Amino acid sequence: MRQPLVAGNWKMNGSLESISLLLQGIKAGMGDVKRAAVAVCAPAIYLPAVQQQLQGSGIGWGGQDVSAEASGAYTGEIATSMLKDFGCQYVIVGHSERRAYHGETDELVARKYAAARAAGLIPILCVGETLDEREQGVTESVVARQLDAVIQLEGVGALADGVVAYEPVWAIGTGKTATPEQAQEVHGFIRQRVAEQDATVAEGLRILYGGSMKPDNAQELIAKPDIDGGLIGGASLNAADFLGICTAA
Ligand code: PGA
Repeated sequence: MRQPLVAGNWKMNGSLESISLLLQGIKAGMGDVKRAAVAVCAPAIYLPAVQQQLQGSGIGWGGQDVSAEASGAYTGEIATSMLKDFGCQYVIVGHSERRAYHGETDELVARKYAAARAAGLIPILCVGETLDEREQGVTESVVARQLDAVIQLEGVGALADGVVAYEPVWAIGTGKTATPEQAQEVHGFIRQRVAEQDATVAEGLRILYGGSMKPDNAQELIAKPDIDGGLIGGASLNAADFLGICTAA
């Protein structure tokens, strides 16, 4: 039985003050969360503050991106060891915003995934098609290509200690959620593709859905057999909304 994971992705939002209030709110409501593991992925500069507030709370935390390199002349970058220094358990890699606005390729994302694992972080690998790609009917080949880049680099075993997040780009921040059926179709495809290489890895792999997940649609999404939680953007910035999703999972 896979334990659901609900991870917040704050993106470039918040202030020292607002995240403190947000975390207080989330911590206060955690008693109602029975099943899901919960985590927040914060802007890197706030990770020390997040660590301070979440240590011992049972809520995990992580980064939103990380360098594929261990250290050196990479101005502005953050290394996996630095995330570890601040107690991170998770890191998002290959978010569609990184792919679209920062030119991240499948190969680079795969290297980031590998670096995260090597450091003992749990990478959350984001995959998903644009609206154009969906309309062209190439959703599965896009998702397969993004997934295969990771498998090619390190073998299918690399997915044994990671998480995949299916995030259709057209559903992110748009209020347009994939229907549970649309999402399940792609989640099932991902699990099947992994199962073709290793049934045990596929069975244990947590595949999150991301894209306008809210308290009122979380339950029916997560009820689908291959949807194991959510990666939450907008709704993770409000304690009641985020908790609503965590309790529904
Ligand atoms: P959203 O973002 O929930 O605001 O659609 C999800 C994400 O980008 O991870």
